[in-house]
Amino acid sequence: MQERIIGLQDCYHSGATLEADFRRGQLEALRRAVKKREAQLTEALQADLGKAPFEAYATEIGMVYEEIALALKHLNRWMRDRRRPTPISQFPARSCIHYEPYGTALIIAPWNYPVQLSLSPLVGALAAGNAALVKPSEHAPAVAQVLEAVIGDMASPAAACMQGGREETQALLKQPFDLIFFTGSVEVGKAVMAAAAQNLTPVVLELGGKSPCILAPDADLPLAARRIAWGKWLNAGQTCVAPDYVLCPKDKVEETAERLRQAAVRQFGPQPLESGDYPRIINEKHFDRLTRLIKASDVIWGGESDRERLRIGPTVIAAGWDSPVMEEEIFGPLLPVVAYDRLEEALDQVRLRPRPLALYFFTGSRPLARRVMRSVSFGGGCVNDTVVHLVNPHLPFGGVGSSGMGCYHGRHSFEAFSHKKAIMTRGAWLDLPVRYPPYHEKAERVVRRLMK
Ligand code: NAD
Repeated sequence: MQERIIGLQDCYHSGATLEADFRRGQLEALRRAVKKREAQLTEALQADLGKAPFEAYATEIGMVYEEIALALKHLNRWMRDRRRPTPISQFPARSCIHYEPYGTALIIAPWNYPVQLSLSPLVGALAAGNAALVKPSEHAPAVAQVLEAVIGDMASPAAACMQGGREETQALLKQPFDLIFFTGSVEVGKAVMAAAAQNLTPVVLELGGKSPCILAPDADLPLAARRIAWGKWLNAGQTCVAPDYVLCPKDKVEETAERLRQAAVRQFGPQPLESGDYPRIINEKHFDRLTRLIKASDVIWGGESDRERLRIGPTVIAAGWDSPVMEEEIFGPLLPVVAYDRLEEALDQVRLRPRPLALYFFTGSRPLARRVMRSVSFGGGCVNDTVVHLVNPHLPFGGVGSSGMGCYHGRHSFEAFSHKKAIMTRGAWLDLPVRYPPYHEKAERVVRRLMK
């Protein structure tokens, strides 16, 4: 471990990563390495999560290619110093922001989108001129194995991969990295931040939480049900921004549940456990947690499961705010529908809870959407859809409050891995004496006129 970290630090300190050509070379090497092992990554995603090749490409591998292409296209512009104005009191001077790489970054990834969530941050780290160590999740072991090979194939002095679980990650957290980029649960996020505090290492935390999906009384239910069903049962609900629960006007609960059922049947057939397009639950621990929740719930439809194959079908549950299923992030295919009398009351309940990573609001009214999206705090979200805000690389992706801090994707990734260094270059041809002691009244009058 030490050797690999020292190698990365040496690479960073050599100054090589400061050059645009070097960074471009790294990104191209990563793209080539992913291309070479694309089939293996697809197979590994099938082995670890039962992901269909379409989903493997659309939600993981393809997104990594897009991030690389965007970084390559805009790298020169992103790297350019940004000119900023200078107050007249500092005349003559030029001011700029210089994007400086942090140095050596540690990227810790979860298991649910194990390719995308390991490699997209790596794209940002390399584009911004860092050296980086990727630590994939031990719960997606087939993918972790291929990721190690992919990063090995890059033959890069600036990128390394180390497999391991909790203990290995804790050992890594004791090392003097210059930035830690963590994606995972709130609980482990706190431990990562506490460990980072020992070295005052900055952190980006991409965490989870319960993301609400709110149906306004005027929502287009057939459309909403289709889009909620897609966002919820993608990756069998094991998506950080999946709608965790639906808030629904009381008189629409029955119709909503039925429309969700129809949408699920259209997507996965009447026997979802047999569908090749429907992934499995990651492991027994999560399977047992989810089936316990089903047992403790008032199931409207669904609820079928098969422990041997770790499969749990789409399931809709009638719930209240104090139901067991509303206590923690579900992170599985269970979808509680909570009825409300007045929209404002439902929004107040959301405001009382930890700030979610995502929020989805379905309505036909633009002014209402505007008001709701601006009056509730959450990481990011959509009006009249679910999940898709994160596929737009021009939008920052990240949480707020307990759903995380910092953001990435596209230019935001470059910025997440860069220190914004302020540089003011003063002209030497003029050096007004007013600022130098001994101070006198006339100088103070000038300063007061300039600084107000
Ligand atoms: P996790 O927090 O259990 O694990 C994440 C990583 O941390 C893994 O690499 C793991 O090896 C490591 N780890 C686990 N325990 C540790 C410990 N005690 N000390 C140090 N490192 C430790 O998360 P997970 O189960 O892999 O992923 C699910 C969670 O991640 C959900 O809460 C989900 O919402 C969240 N998530 C968030 C995003 C996002 O972009 N915001 C994306 C995907 C998942």
